[in-house]
Order: sequence, then structure tokens, then C-alpha cells
Amino acid sequence: VLSTMQDVPLLISRILTHGSTVHGTSRVTTWTGEGEPHRRTFAEIGARAAQLAHALRADLGVGDDERIGTLAWNNAEHVEAYFAIPSMGAILHTLNLRLPPEQLAWIVNHAADRVVIANGSLLPLLAPLLPHLKTVEHVVVTGPGDRSLLDGATAQVHEYEDLIAGKPTTYDWPELDERSAAAMCYTSGTTGEPKGVVYSHRSIYLHSMQVNMAQSMGLTDQDTSLVVVPQFHVNAWGLPHATFMTGVNMLMPDRFLQPAPLAEMIESERPTHAAAVPTIWQGLLAELTARPRDVASLTQVTIGGSACPPSLMEAFDRLGMRVCHAWGMTETSPLGTVARPPAQAVGTEAEFAYRLTQGRFPAGVEARLTGPDGERLPWDGESAGELEVRGPWIAGAYYNGPAADPIRPADKFSEDNWLKTGDVGTISPDGYLTLTDRAKDVIKSGGEWISSVELENALMAHPDVTEAAVVAVPDEKWGERPLATVVLREGATADFAALRAFLGGDGGIAKWQLPERWAVIEAVPKTSVGKFDKKVLRRRYADGELE
Ligand code: ADP
Repeated sequence: VLSTMQDVPLLISRILTHGSTVHGTSRVTTWTGEGEPHRRTFAEIGARAAQLAHALRADLGVGDDERIGTLAWNNAEHVEAYFAIPSMGAILHTLNLRLPPEQLAWIVNHAADRVVIANGSLLPLLAPLLPHLKTVEHVVVTGPGDRSLLDGATAQVHEYEDLIAGKPTTYDWPELDERSAAAMCYTSGTTGEPKGVVYSHRSIYLHSMQVNMAQSMGLTDQDTSLVVVPQFHVNAWGLPHATFMTGVNMLMPDRFLQPAPLAEMIESERPTHAAAVPTIWQGLLAELTARPRDVASLTQVTIGGSACPPSLMEAFDRLGMRVCHAWGMTETSPLGTVARPPAQAVGTEAEFAYRLTQGRFPAGVEARLTGPDGERLPWDGESAGELEVRGPWIAGAYYNGPAADPIRPADKFSEDNWLKTGDVGTISPDGYLTLTDRAKDVIKSGGEWISSVELENALMAHPDVTEAAVVAVPDEKWGERPLATVVLREGATADFAALRAFLGGDGGIAKWQLPERWAVIEAVPKTSVGKFDKKVLRRRYADGELE
């Protein structure tokens, strides 16, 4: 029997219309590096999104389901594209501007983007790529930057502002099927070929509601969120959509992602919330230690993308910036778990331990653990296995490009179509996920597993260590052994014996897990989204020998 309820599709255009009217006075503020930041209200964003949709349809002939790439930092125009493109029935394809150029070209060709909207400041990246982008017919440029770099391009070049000028400020958004494609994002390829994940209007709508829940980010129109996580990194973790539902103001850093301008932004624009991966916060922490600032406004910091080191959480807590740890991936939109401690732990010693877990599953994410032989493992907080998830904002397949790749590779989807995350961990009876490692980063030593993350976290708690990455290296006797690479604080000298003793002492690491191979490095190599790139380190030390 069908219900008696209205069947209103969950569309991004509805989020836009709501945000730009009900929360029309909320603002997107974009940092410009000098002088006053640029400010635009949600009402203005709504009007300009309508103009952009008209321009794309009328002037560029963009039809339904066509892919429009964005090569852009976090800024107001990128938010306009976020709403205009899916609302009109096309597909927003955010391009990761930190990928190696060949990979970027591969992704644009795979998605067959017909238009690219690019920030002027990124033309030095785009211009040499253009001849390799087979399907791109139009480039639309926003913001400052040298246009002459595009001289001689075969694609037509347009000025964003000229294109939208004079267009109607409302658009009769089509009543789409809520399951149709709205946006796409390729996995950053930390583990092989990039894979395209295509989000639906419905998945984004439901995910946004979850982001807004008190047990997730729980922000309101009294908040301003500093959105450091790039809009090309899994939809900036859902913030642009979620904020338009609730009127949360957005502070966009554009290309100013270095610690000093971030500190300045926080001091002068007074955001209450911020979201980014741990490496960004490690950098900010060093900056704030060297040059203290008034960061009192910032009381909630969402950290995810890789494990939050306990030392970072403690340091931020001391600064009054309370960390909320979360886990997710491109395939999960990304919100998978959020580490808000349960009521009974608040104010007790257990609270910090709960906050350090990857977090608790929300109602929309079902989880199970699978052991090495495919057996289901209990949620007992001890049995470790691969995490599998399913739910209305979890990918069920990958985008099928011209190469006709398999859309449900067996290492990524179970036979009953749960997503295999490649993350290994435990789940407590009350639904908290603790990841011990990524399956491919675990160090397999003599039949036992050593968690690289546990060693890294323990090392980063040492006062002389700013960053640490541990990888497996081949070992004749044990198969694999951990190699610890450390970045030392300025002025510190390497004393590996002392570091080893520290791990075994305060670090609480079992003796057999202590690394016997060590190296000091200048910096931990990072992936395009700022995670430790252990692939690079593994390659560097592949023969088990130190340089
Ligand atoms: P990629 O897989 O290419 O790095 P994603 O951004 O989708 O791109 O990364 C998702 C992965 O990042 C997860 O599968 C997990 O291994 C890791 N990750 C994300 N958040 C956390 C976290 N809070 N703690 C530990 N690992 C995390």
C-alpha cells in the first residue's frame, strides 16, 4: 500500500531555493589575500546561480547530464557552480587541482567534461593541459589571472562575469528524478587508478541533512564555517549544501591555504567552525605556537580524511578549539562516522578515548566487519576486520567511462553490494568505529599485524617530532618490518635510540612492534588531498635499505 504522503523529489534546486530565500542574508565570504574579503549573500548566490544556468544553457548549449568540470578553489563562484549545474540537470564534476597533470587529464577525458569553469589563478595549470582534454569545448574563467595563457586554445574561452551579466536572476528549475546524477568526484587515487563516484540529488540531499544533525556538525545560522577542505575533495565534506539548508555562513579561503593566512582569517573573520584534514591543522598549530593569535571564536573543528593524532587533539583542546573527529571517503559522500562521545562518557576519563575513535555510525550508514575468510565479525570492540558499509549516500558502483571499466570491482563491492572500504578496524557494541589502519598500510610482521597509524600517533606525541610516517619494508626474517620516518622540529637532532625508548615507554607500543629502521626526512610526502603518501615512501625504501 502506498503512503498518503506527497512525493516531492529531493533536489539540489530545492536546497538552493530554500537557502537563497529563507537564509537569503547569510553570507559566503571569500578571502582575497589583501584588503577586504569579498562578501556575497545567499540571495545573491541564488540569483547568480540562476544566471549561470541560463548562460550554460543558452550560450554554451549545455544539455541534461552533460559534465561540467570545475577547476577552482573554495570561493563564492564555485558555490554558484555547485548549485547551478546540478539544479539545471547537468552534472558538476569537481577537479582536484593538486593531482599530477596527466591524472587530471585522464579524469577529464574519462568523465568527458564539455565545459570547464576555472579560476584565473589556475590557468597556468589548465593552459598546458587543454590540448589533451579531448572533450572540452568551452572554458569559463572567473577571478583574477592572466587570460593570455589561453591564447591559441582550441576551446572557446569565456569570461564568467560577461557570460552571466544580464541573464534572468531566476530559473525555472526542472523537476528531475531525485536519483539522477548531480555531481561527481574521482577518488584521489591513493590506491591505483582514480575511480569516478557519481552522487545523486537524493544522496546529496540526505547527506546534507545528516551533516546538519546535532550529532554531526550541528551548525546553525549563528555559525560561520571556515571551509578549508577543498570543494574538490568530496564536495567539501557536504558543507556547501548543508549550509544552504541551515543558513550557516561560509568563510572561503580561496587559494590562501597556508598557515599564516588561515590564522589571519580566523582572527579577523571569527569563524566558529572549521573543517580540514590533519596536515592543515598541524601547520596551523605550528603557526599559532610561533605567533599566537586570537582564535577564541573557533570552538569547533572537524578533522577527518586521515586519523587525528591524539597530540593534535590535545593541543587544539588547549587552545579552546574542540576537535570533532570524523571518518569518510569519496565513496561515502563522505560522512561515514562522527566521534561525538556518548552521554555517559561526557565528563569522564573515557570521553577523550571516544573522541579519538573514528566515530559513531549515523542512522543512514549501516556497517559490518568482515574477517579474512569472509566471516562476519562481532561488534565487540576487539575483533578487527575490513569495514563494509551501505546506505542511501554510499556508492554502489563506479562511473563507467569510455574505457568500459568494471563498475563494481570485486575488491570494492561485496557480492551483496556493500562497499568494501579497505579500512581495517573494530566496532564497539555502541557503534563506535576504531580504525587500526588501511588494509594496504598494515605492517605484516611474522604473521602478526602492526598498525602504522598507532606508531605514527605515538611518535608525533614526542616533542621533537612534528610529523611521522611509518611504512612496511621487506624483511628476510619477518616478511615485513616497520620503517619509521620522522620530520624533526627545528633545532632538534635525531636520536633514534631515544625515540625508540619513548615509543616503548610513554608511547605504550609493544616491544616486538618497535621499529628498528629509522630515517629523518624533510617532509612527509603528501597526496593531492594532503594525506601522507605512503606509496611514495614505500617506493623510496622498497629494498629495505636506508639511503
Ligand atoms: P583516497 O582513498 O584516494 O585517499 P578519500 O579521500 O576518499 O581518498 O580517502 C578515504 C580514506 O581516507 C578512508 O578509506 C580512510 O582510509 C581514510 N580516512 C578518512 N578519514 C579518516 C579518519 N578519520 N581516520 C583514519 N582514516 C581516515
